Amino acid sequence: MQSIAQIFPQLKVPKKVVITMHQKPDADAMGSSLGLYHFLNQLNHEVTVISPTNWASFLSWMPGADKVIDFERPHLKAKALEAITGADWIFCLDFNTLSRTKSMEQPLVESAAKRILIDHHRQPQTELFAYGESNIEKSSTSEMIYDFIIQSGHADKINNETAQCIYAGVMTDTGSFRFPITSEAVHRLIADLKSRGLDHSKIHEQLFDNFSENRLKFIGNVLLNRLQVFYEYNTALISIPQSDLIRYDIKTGDTEGLVNYPLSIEGIKLATIIIDRGEERKLSFRSKGDFDVNEFARKYFSGGGHKNAAGGQSDKSLDEVVNDFEQAMKQNRDQLSTYNF
Ligand code: 5GP
Ligand code: MN
Repeated sequence: MQSIAQIFPQLKVPKKVVITMHQKPDADAMGSSLGLYHFLNQLNHEVTVISPTNWASFLSWMPGADKVIDFERPHLKAKALEAITGADWIFCLDFNTLSRTKSMEQPLVESAAKRILIDHHRQPQTELFAYGESNIEKSSTSEMIYDFIIQSGHADKINNETAQCIYAGVMTDTGSFRFPITSEAVHRLIADLKSRGLDHSKIHEQLFDNFSENRLKFIGNVLLNRLQVFYEYNTALISIPQSDLIRYDIKTGDTEGLVNYPLSIEGIKLATIIIDRGEERKLSFRSKGDFDVNEFARKYFSGGGHKNAAGGQSDKSLDEVVNDFEQAMKQNRDQLSTYNF
């Protein structure tokens, strides 16, 4: 993989571009993709944004979200495949392995386009990309898109649409500027977006105050009935059966952020959520301090991510996955039972 700076001179020549992101995109995946979309549009590239799956409705306010193709919608698939096959460049944003694009993986591998990675996850598949930047010290892929625009000499192209998308990704991936990864550069970036007229509180409202009554009741039920705390391991586990998702009419995105709740309990170092989505059991991990959930997710649950935030999945039943988790937790007793920040 060559440095991303190698493509800066080529940005002048209009190209056919596809931008894609990980399945069930979060605000960083969608924000970085649409931030880049608005930038490349201004340079007259022909840009198609494709998501491997659907996304949360609280992302639909993002400028350009209505143009994003959901690869799983049967009537849009042919158009998406045509764009992938005919592309000069395919930007892969906010994921480290192509398997994160689910059924898009094969067409992405087969396309003759140059693949370009911009991402901040650990252990990227760099051999699959012609150009790119992978930097685990960056708060978010959205921050990396901001850097890309600035470093390629196009600061003047950060319009309000781009700024809104970038802000959403940076803000959510830093836990509203709370996580240790929130650097001075992040605060300077935000100051720059503010100086360009960004209305940040509107974006917080769109992302956090846009849910259904059902979702709030669902969270009440989860915290009351689905939370287990293992104090001797400084660990908390939430496991959600599919029947809860049906009962409360839970949609994509409604469970996002839930994994963080147990971290507000004093002393909790590892929080895990296991959700029975029917087709698979999806796991999310969050940790504080030195417990590396990227390694934990890779080792036990075919996943990965960052040191303090990662995910995985399993084909086994919910009860079996809960049991697997408890075994894995016990195997990590030494690390989990000592609490040090
Ligand atoms: P979340 O728990 O919010 O779904 O994901 C936490 C972080 O881990 C995100 O950066 C996400 O991209 C990554 N992640 C989530 N699930 C997986 C997975 O199954 N495999 C890998 N490699 N990364 C994941
Ligand atoms: Mn991200």
